[in-house]
Amino acid sequence: CKTVTTGDVATYIPQLARQDPNKWGVSICTVDGQRVSFGDSTTPFCFQSVSKAFNYAILASDIGADEVHSYVGQEPSGRFFNEICLDGNNKPHNPMVNSGAIIVTSLLKNEWQMADRFDYILNEYKKLAGDEFIGFNNATFLSERDTADRNFALAYFMKECKCFPESKQSLQDTLDFYFQLCSLEANCESLAVMAATLANGGVCPLTGVKCLANRPCRDVLSLMYSCGMYDYSGQFAFHVGLPAKSGVSGAMIVVIPNLMGICMWSPPLDKMGNTVRGVEFCKEMINKFKFHNYDTL
Ligand code: GLN
Repeated sequence: CKTVTTGDVATYIPQLARQDPNKWGVSICTVDGQRVSFGDSTTPFCFQSVSKAFNYAILASDIGADEVHSYVGQEPSGRFFNEICLDGNNKPHNPMVNSGAIIVTSLLKNEWQMADRFDYILNEYKKLAGDEFIGFNNATFLSERDTADRNFALAYFMKECKCFPESKQSLQDTLDFYFQLCSLEANCESLAVMAATLANGGVCPLTGVKCLANRPCRDVLSLMYSCGMYDYSGQFAFHVGLPAKSGVSGAMIVVIPNLMGICMWSPPLDKMGNTVRGVEFCKEMINKFKFHNYDTL
């Protein structure tokens, strides 16, 4: 997949536009803690939308799936990830699009001070990653906040439709927190461990720490399967048959339940916003190994 050179690096903020299109890393962590990495597997990148999967799983472990889903649905939207639209019940379609992810963020420990909320998520991410590298890119956060018109528009639209939980937090606080979570950093190695924790029912394979309750772990994989790859989710489920989540930094995780977590990172994106090399890698892998959900039939 290194020879694949199609796709364009995201340009809406300078911190992403400056990413080197030649960077390409893959890391694998199995549920029994075996590791292998290739290429640029220790270069930091920001989570962007990959954070949506973990934020949802952390929230659902904390307050329960039923409570979360009284605010956000489970249906693929069939629309672009930041489109201003809600489902028939006036809820965001699912937690993997921006609207749903903003609602999830607004529910995360929303009685707490902003600094404590940030620390809480940072610590949860570190637990999921078995204490491997998790960072924060302040320049990315500041840029995200500076170019946030669409996310503000989404948030105001949802406020009008009464989508938010009752709490004292301002829209600015909610969106700041959402941008901060998009600006958290990992590398292929640490993010593969986080994916392996999902593959292992919420128990980190490196530390044995139970980070997520069983049902949220199952639920986030269901949502990643149907909604994790933007408007390519249906095709990805068809061709690859595995739960996955991508982000505009070129990061992507794919989970093979009970077996392993894989992280791929390569900045050039296709028209849908998925890393070109990452998607290609998954297809090649399915050609070679019987990991597709329905391969064993
Ligand atoms: N920060 C981006 C946004 O909210 C994240 C988008 C993404 O990775 N798709 O628009």
